[in-house]
Amino acid sequence: MIVLKSKSELEKMRRAGRMVAEVLQLMRERIKPGVTTLELNRIAEDRCKKWKARPAFKGYGGFPFTICASPNDSVVHGFPNQQPLVEGDILSIDFGLIIDGFYGDSAVTIPVGKIDATTQRLLDVTKESLELGIAAAQPGGRLSDISHAVQTRVEQDHFSVVREFVGHGIGRQLHEDPQIPNYGPPARGPQLKAGMTLAIEPMVNIGLPAVKVLDDGWTAVTIDGRRSAHFEHTVAITENGPEILTRLD
Ligand code: MG
Ligand code: MG
Repeated sequence: MIVLKSKSELEKMRRAGRMVAEVLQLMRERIKPGVTTLELNRIAEDRCKKWKARPAFKGYGGFPFTICASPNDSVVHGFPNQQPLVEGDILSIDFGLIIDGFYGDSAVTIPVGKIDATTQRLLDVTKESLELGIAAAQPGGRLSDISHAVQTRVEQDHFSVVREFVGHGIGRQLHEDPQIPNYGPPARGPQLKAGMTLAIEPMVNIGLPAVKVLDDGWTAVTIDGRRSAHFEHTVAITENGPEILTRLD
C-alpha cells in the first residue's frame, strides 16, 4: 500500500531531507586523499547526535554503520573502514536519518581528487539519469515512467543499470511501497499522485550490470570489477510536480 503524506507530514519530511542533505554536504567537503571512510562515518554519526536524529541504516537489518561507504567497484551497502581514500577513487555515500517520525534518504558518488574521464562520465550520466527520473515523477503519470527515464539515459551512454536493488517509497518507514526499479517500459504500475514520497536511486555500472554480495553479507560489488555510481534523492510528488526534499536550498 502506498501511503500518501499530508501537508504537515510533508513539512516534517522536508526537515528530515534537509538534514540528510547537510550531512552529505559535510561528507563532500571532507573527502580527499588520505581520509578514511570510518572517519566520515564518525562525522555523520556525531552530526546525528548533535541534532538528536537517529541514523536510518545503523541497526537496519543488522547493518552496523551510520553511512554506507562504497568505493570504486562497490555498488551499495559498503562498510566504512580504515583504508585511506586514494586520488582517483570514487566513493558512493548513502545516508539516511529519522527525525520527528519521518525518514530522509539520499546518496551521492564523490570523486577523490582528480578522476579519469570515463569515471567522470559515469558520475555525470548517473546523476543525470536521477534528474530525469525525478522529472518523470509527475502527478497523473505512472510509476514506471521514472524507471524508463533512468534506464533510457543510462543506456544512451552504454552504461548499465543494476537490477538487484531498487528505489522505494519512504516516510514513517525507511522502505515503503512502491518499489522503484531503474529499468522497464514506461506507463506501467501505480498512478503517481500528489502526496507520494519516493526515494529514487539509480545504481549504474560502467561494465556489466551484474553484482555480487561479499562475505560480509552486505557489500555489493560489480562482478567484473569495473566501477559503479549511485545517486539518490527523496522526492515528494506535489500538484505542481516533483519536489526534491534532500537538497540544500
Ligand atoms: Mg539510500
Ligand atoms: Mg534508499
